Amino acid sequence: MEDFQRLREVQRGYDSVKVLLRYPAPGFKFPDGNPFPLKNLPGRRAIQGEAEPRETVRYVNKQTGEAAWNILKSTAIFDHEQKPYLVITVMQDITQLKELEQRKDMFISMASHELKTPVTSLLGFIQVLQKRFQQRDDEQSLQFLSIMDGQLKKLTKLINDLLDISKMQTGQLTYNEEYFDLNELVRETVCNLRAATRSHQLLLEDEVQAQVLGDKDRLGQVLINLITNAIKYSPQADKVMLSISIDAGEAVVRVHDFGIGIAEAHRQRIFERFYQVGDPLERTFPGLGIGLYISSEIIKRHGGKIWVESKRGDGSTFSFTVPLHDLHG
Ligand code: ADP
Repeated sequence: MEDFQRLREVQRGYDSVKVLLRYPAPGFKFPDGNPFPLKNLPGRRAIQGEAEPRETVRYVNKQTGEAAWNILKSTAIFDHEQKPYLVITVMQDITQLKELEQRKDMFISMASHELKTPVTSLLGFIQVLQKRFQQRDDEQSLQFLSIMDGQLKKLTKLINDLLDISKMQTGQLTYNEEYFDLNELVRETVCNLRAATRSHQLLLEDEVQAQVLGDKDRLGQVLINLITNAIKYSPQADKVMLSISIDAGEAVVRVHDFGIGIAEAHRQRIFERFYQVGDPLERTFPGLGIGLYISSEIIKRHGGKIWVESKRGDGSTFSFTVPLHDLHG
């Protein structure tokens, strides 16, 4: 009896495997709108031996025109000859969650646009007032204005980060590419940040010429994010070390700090949108948890990689690569 039941299970299982291999996916698309290749179906990948494959897809009901979002997760069960005899696929409808996320993105985009106009106007009037107080030699008012200016610049950076995030979500962030020496950019950025950093020494250890093709301002933004984080998350330390080297046709930039470090559990997730390490030690640091997300999107767009090596309590090293572009090669 038991054998009979097992035989039926196995037969049913083989059916699911056969069906999966025979029929095309029903009009799924990737979230970016590209058609979904059959080989990416988690069920097929599970048959190939991939552990717990998953995929987020979007599809449109041809009759109603309604779009739905699904997460597909599959597991394959293999018989004693290591042949797949059953594939279980769980489809989770996340359409409502996606709609909420899109509303939140829309809100962030509108809020950051609305905030930008008054802040720009305040910055403009601060300049006018600075000129007036300079004429009157009013040192104290000039000092207050300089504090206001500094705070407004911080606010502008936050608003710009939020605007960048919204543009990234909709693929509207533009990149102005040019050939330049990444080493020069690292030097310039370090030099500019040195002027504004009293607590830490910024040491540029190894240098090498590295001709790349990319958006200088955006890569500069990545460097600023990594260096300011290195300073922010190492309040007890007094230096941050940087280096640039070449490895396998890529420029590798490293930013090393001697700060609080990052526990293993958080190391991958800190590159996600709005992710912050939420333990009591971390809560004292201000921020929105978007700098690393923006940085990793910029690096990916340049065909590079970004990662962190760290130990809790023992500092962190953030590294990123950008492919080299030899103008003469
Ligand atoms: P923010 O610093 O605004 O919170 P980021 O996206 O720049 O956002 O960083 C995400 C999280 O990663 C931070 O909240 C922090 O917990 C962690 N982190 C980033 N850089 C470092 C660092 N150099 N040392 C320790 N933790 C870091």
